[in-house]
Amino acid sequence: MKKDTLITVLILAGLIAGVILGQILHMGLAEGATVNSIWMDLGDIVLIRPLKLMVIPLVFLSVVVGVTSIGDPSKLGLVGGSTLAYYLATMLLAVILGTALVATIRPGDTLTPEQQVELRSQGEVEYGEQTKIQTASSEAESRGLGGAWFSILEQVIPTNFFKELAQGRTLGVIVFALLLGLALAASGSTGQPAIEVFNSLFQAMMKLVLWILWLTPAGVFFLVTGTVGRIGLESLYGPLGGYMTTVLLGLGIHGLIVLPLILWLLGGTNPYRFMFRMRKALLTAFGTDSSSATLPVTIETAIDEGGCSKRSANFVLPLGATVNMDGTALYEAVAVVFLFQLYGIQLEFAELIIVVITATLAAIGAAGIPSAGLITMVIVIGAVNTSLSGRGVEALPLSAVGVIYGVDRILDMCRTVVNVWGDATGAKIMTRLTGKDDASEDAAVDAG
Ligand code: ASP
Repeated sequence: MKKDTLITVLILAGLIAGVILGQILHMGLAEGATVNSIWMDLGDIVLIRPLKLMVIPLVFLSVVVGVTSIGDPSKLGLVGGSTLAYYLATMLLAVILGTALVATIRPGDTLTPEQQVELRSQGEVEYGEQTKIQTASSEAESRGLGGAWFSILEQVIPTNFFKELAQGRTLGVIVFALLLGLALAASGSTGQPAIEVFNSLFQAMMKLVLWILWLTPAGVFFLVTGTVGRIGLESLYGPLGGYMTTVLLGLGIHGLIVLPLILWLLGGTNPYRFMFRMRKALLTAFGTDSSSATLPVTIETAIDEGGCSKRSANFVLPLGATVNMDGTALYEAVAVVFLFQLYGIQLEFAELIIVVITATLAAIGAAGIPSAGLITMVIVIGAVNTSLSGRGVEALPLSAVGVIYGVDRILDMCRTVVNVWGDATGAKIMTRLTGKDDASEDAAVDAG
């Protein structure tokens, strides 16, 4: 069996075994008990930490290598601009789809009054216990939308590169790497030795990622066991089932129909074949629940198997893992509208538009880590509440987020897959725009 096939089979086996064992553990739990956190801790040690260790150096090297191989600043401007426009447009499409689905299916309105009351009070209790969400929500609330944007701007113009590295803030690292890459490309022969060093370091990082990939099956197994063990698959049939199904339906339509259609039209490639070739990254996204931790695998898979050029993938994928989150945007829209429905607050069309805009912004601001979307959602709720207060309607309490906290991880795993898939489609489309790598750069065979 080829190494790649073997690793995919092992990851899938880890995933399926995790679901089965998790469900068995869940069913064996006494009332009110939760599954031992050792499963998540093991997953963290075995897979998440090694992957995270790769992220910052990889983002830096990858962007420098990508930018130096594009070289020409005007071409870089074209690729950068087109990438951002593509990411923004697909996120908007995702969020419009989510809003339309939740407004049509109305999962919050179709519950019985008793179920609504019960969910709300469970949500209050959950919120009361989760200090992490409380702190994050009060921070997000006090900073508001303007503050959130200001903090993104501050990251785009960092003052200390090493601080950005140490704090793992990818946006600042990308900006510095981009500038350095441009300067090296403009330096002619004096820049060449440094470019070669960065290229060789990048190749070494890719080798490391390939080694870490062998940890994925075990890591995915532990993480999925822990998640399913805590939440249980039957949550899909519980009172939150309608909400969960709406999110999953939206993610399915966006990931399996909308993005493939765009990829086919703009990338001129068979989207499902490309999806199959990206399977290692997509499965890792599902298991780790973090597009940022998956980034090393996404880059490796896109270049080695997906037929993306280095000059496109190296630059487009780190940017995507930081700002492009189609799945999160769609989910935030569905979740917010669902919560308003659950609390009996009717939103008007103008408020749905506010949801569309702020959910897109909140998804851009969300980090590629577990539950980031759940936390930035507070920004969307705040914006809608402001509009409601204008027409004298009661606001949604932020503690409402507690209602969906318990089942979030399963949805998070699915939206992370769509986030990574969205990044990968961007890299494939930009490969067409930037052209193939030079032969000297190990040009990837176009898999299209
Ligand atoms: N877990 C998601 C990601 O890493 C972010 C989120 O929606 O919470 O892409």
